[in-house]
Amino acid sequence: MSDLSAPITALKGVGEALALKLGRLGIERVSDLLFHLPLRYQDRTRLTPIGLLRAGQEAVIEGEVTACDVVKGRRRSLLVRLRDASGILSLRFFHFSPAQQQQLRPGTTVRAFGEARAGATGLEIYHPEYRLSGSETPVDEYFTPIYPTTEGLNQPRLRALAQQALGLLDDAPEALPDVIPDTLLQRFQLPGLHASLHLLHQPPPDVNIEQLTFGQHPATRRLALEELLAHQLSLREVRLRIQADGAPTLPSGRSLQARFLAQLPFALTGAQRRVLEEISHDLSRPAPMLRLIQGDVGSGKTVVAAMAALSALAGNCQAAIMAPTEILAEQHYRSFKAWFEPLGIEVAWLAGKLKGKARLDAKAAIADGRARMVVGTHALFQDDVHFQCLGLAIIDEQHRFGVHQRLALREKGEAGGLTPHQLIMTATPIPRTLAMSAYADLDVSVIDELPPGRTPVKTVVVPDERRPEVVERIRLACSEGRQAYWVCTLIDESEVLQCQAAEVTRDELTVALPELAVGLVHGRMKSSEKAEVMTAFKAGELDLLVATTVIEVGVDVPNASLMIIENPERLGLSQLHQLRGRVGRGSTESFCVLLYHPPLSKSSRQRLAVMRETTDGFRIAEKDLEIRGPGEVLGTRQTGLAQMKIADLERDADLLERVTAMAQTLQGNPDITAVLVRRWLGEAAGRYGQV
Ligand code: ADP
Ligand code: MG
Repeated sequence: MSDLSAPITALKGVGEALALKLGRLGIERVSDLLFHLPLRYQDRTRLTPIGLLRAGQEAVIEGEVTACDVVKGRRRSLLVRLRDASGILSLRFFHFSPAQQQQLRPGTTVRAFGEARAGATGLEIYHPEYRLSGSETPVDEYFTPIYPTTEGLNQPRLRALAQQALGLLDDAPEALPDVIPDTLLQRFQLPGLHASLHLLHQPPPDVNIEQLTFGQHPATRRLALEELLAHQLSLREVRLRIQADGAPTLPSGRSLQARFLAQLPFALTGAQRRVLEEISHDLSRPAPMLRLIQGDVGSGKTVVAAMAALSALAGNCQAAIMAPTEILAEQHYRSFKAWFEPLGIEVAWLAGKLKGKARLDAKAAIADGRARMVVGTHALFQDDVHFQCLGLAIIDEQHRFGVHQRLALREKGEAGGLTPHQLIMTATPIPRTLAMSAYADLDVSVIDELPPGRTPVKTVVVPDERRPEVVERIRLACSEGRQAYWVCTLIDESEVLQCQAAEVTRDELTVALPELAVGLVHGRMKSSEKAEVMTAFKAGELDLLVATTVIEVGVDVPNASLMIIENPERLGLSQLHQLRGRVGRGSTESFCVLLYHPPLSKSSRQRLAVMRETTDGFRIAEKDLEIRGPGEVLGTRQTGLAQMKIADLERDADLLERVTAMAQTLQGNPDITAVLVRRWLGEAAGRYGQV
């Protein structure tokens, strides 16, 4: 006698070959079958009068054969005319046998199921499932589920397996505990787990099939709720695990911070100060901080990071900042060097491309603690890098890093036996409800104010026929001492092609604008070359910088006030917003020209209109979410959220607040958490745990 937790091969008729196929669907244990839910349903629970049938509709019909002939059209086919009291339609078979032709002779009553389509003879069903019937042949008792499947595994087979699993569930209901308390279910008017599973695998004929199809049925919502809850609980578990470790308690380092601020040519904004308060509070506690700063491009996150780093240094610890690209890491390196060396703080630099002696030196300085501040790419968190005492790890632009790296960071504190505090910074604003789910393991601070004196970037959308005008615009801006970016995009994933396109554009613009100094930066240049070009641009030695989207993140040149983005229709809204954020950092009015290639699709036009209408990162993120969906917005690598089985962050957005509240209540209960996480995340949860 098999049970729900048994491997799938425990079921009757499941051998190794079938188990392999099921494995491709993520079905390994019997209970996985229960959570392998139908994509859609067919209604075979009632007969539809032929006269009521419309093209596109799937239905069971029954009628008497009035004619059965082989017809020669473009393809030879068997055409069977079928009539009931309400109308007439044709069944058409392109593959048929003489026996079939014989069987379907006029006068026979046939019941058929299939999708009606507009054909040569009116409504037709191609290759219906059919059988000869008498008037007492019963219709199905339930809607027919159609499951996601894989090659070599047909629907009847999957259906039979699901039925077996449901049978086992009925025999031993306690094997699949319903962990959501009744009171909660009643409050939200949601059914229990077992009832939901039964309904979804076997919807009765009176079910609201529209609701079911669009994921609005209480049974679906109930499971979506549970899945969202499982994801949140697993993230919270990561958090609890990290926070169970000790962290160095760090002083605010006020005097060091004051000396730093005195060097800056500006005062902090209110939002920067508020976020710093939140950070100081976290750093003064003996548990690791896990805090995300969301701040639009240009909101001044780097200075906040520097201030936090100074707290760590004042507490005799090291601080590290990790950036996702070498260009950005190098820029941070230059900023931190300029800021910290006057204060007598040594800043080290480490990236993948740093080789040989320079690398050994950097690692030695990090290990023996000479380097107090460390800047780099993810190379910082490789196994061979040891810190003397890492007190604070700052991760910039975190949408490129995931939960795994967050856990891996723990180990970098090994020397002192303490786990570093973590500060994560992102310029990708995420709508609040989404953030609650995606960042359930983090506290969130928002820098919701831009430094004063910025004028919002004006955006214009221009077809590429008007390229010559745009070139004139660059000439004018640069003749007035300002600088410009020209961003080349390519839909092609190939970096080689992107870079070639950028080179061609650079050449063309050099010819068109002979009086300007034109630079080029792209992903295939050596990092030293990139850095040289960026430095020259920042120093004003270049007027115009042609670039691929490598400049997307974080590059800061306040004098640049014009950006041309070629083929913006190929980019997502958030990416456009990031790019555009490179201008509008100084006090002169800035412009962004979206130079598109007509014709535009409807959704492209929508997206470009959003860019023209607003510079508010949160609004853009919300639109992006509407247009592209959460998987794209969050990035699949970041969380498991994009791979949910049933829940849909957009559709189920209204559940998220409840889920958060429930997760808060349940997180202290390891049994419930364990059951839910195993049920919904399975392997993935195991991976979180191993890091
Ligand atoms: P982001 O949040 O996009 O990383 P940065 O930290 O690069 O933004 O800051 C953008 C620019 O704004 C930098 O030139 C920085 O020196 C400047 N800046 C930061 N804070 C302030 C402030 N309070 N007042 C004026 N300028 C500021
Ligand atoms: Mg930045």
